[in-house]
Amino acid sequence: MAPESFTRIDEMSAVYKQPNSEEERLKALQALLSCPTNSIHTEKPPPDILKAQDSFPIPVDEHRTPGVYHCGYHSENSYGAASYLIVHPEGNILIDSPRFTERLAYNIEMLGGARYMFLTHKDDVADHKKWSKRLNCIRILHSSDVDISTADVEMQLQGKGPWSLYKDVQLIHTPGHTEGSVCLLYKSHKILFTGDHVGMAESGVMSMWEKYNQCSVPMQLNNIKMLVDLDIKLLLPGSILQFVACVASLLRSAMVVFFSPLSAA
Ligand SMILES: [Zn+2]
Repeated sequence: MAPESFTRIDEMSAVYKQPNSEEERLKALQALLSCPTNSIHTEKPPPDILKAQDSFPIPVDEHRTPGVYHCGYHSENSYGAASYLIVHPEGNILIDSPRFTERLAYNIEMLGGARYMFLTHKDDVADHKKWSKRLNCIRILHSSDVDISTADVEMQLQGKGPWSLYKDVQLIHTPGHTEGSVCLLYKSHKILFTGDHVGMAESGVMSMWEKYNQCSVPMQLNNIKMLVDLDIKLLLPGSILQFVACVASLLRSAMVVFFSPLSAA
């Protein structure tokens, strides 16, 4: 978040330039509130922090993807993963777990609350219990990723799917990163929420975060390949820097990058 002000040095956030416009300052404060490790600080308590708190959840793109929000407040217990909110006429869907804060809960409530909390996989569950209790939502996680901390999840997906939540919301089993990784396809908006299955690295190239794979790299690759034929315009992965427009052609070109090192090995 706020690339105008922060950069990455050795996988840590660092101040690159102090914000010098109101917009840059709001983005910097949003990044401060979302930082999972509290590594961004201000010298004095900022008077406009309330404004920044009220800005969450943030629309991903008001014009092109209305009703789709980035929740901010990344949690260290979800490895800093981004979570999202879909405002849907049949009931809103919270995707993965932000850090629990009452302010964000209230703001989500003002947008209609959440009927479901869909967890893409076991790494990004953080404060799921608190959210479930506060918003009274039905949690969803694939049974292969359920462990003792998620044993009480209300809806545990079995088998290979796909599963339909609504007419335009489908859950697709994409094992590989973990055995129970599942993507959410929001058909009417052509958006795929991918968790850690696939996304874009800071360098701007497609990434499957191979070094974090917990199940099977070949399986993950095959399940990325399966996505190429889907009608999607945007990938929203769990990794924060990566909610960028990503069309099928980009996924196709990624196949070349992903498969060549394996075939050369
Ligand atoms: Zn993960």
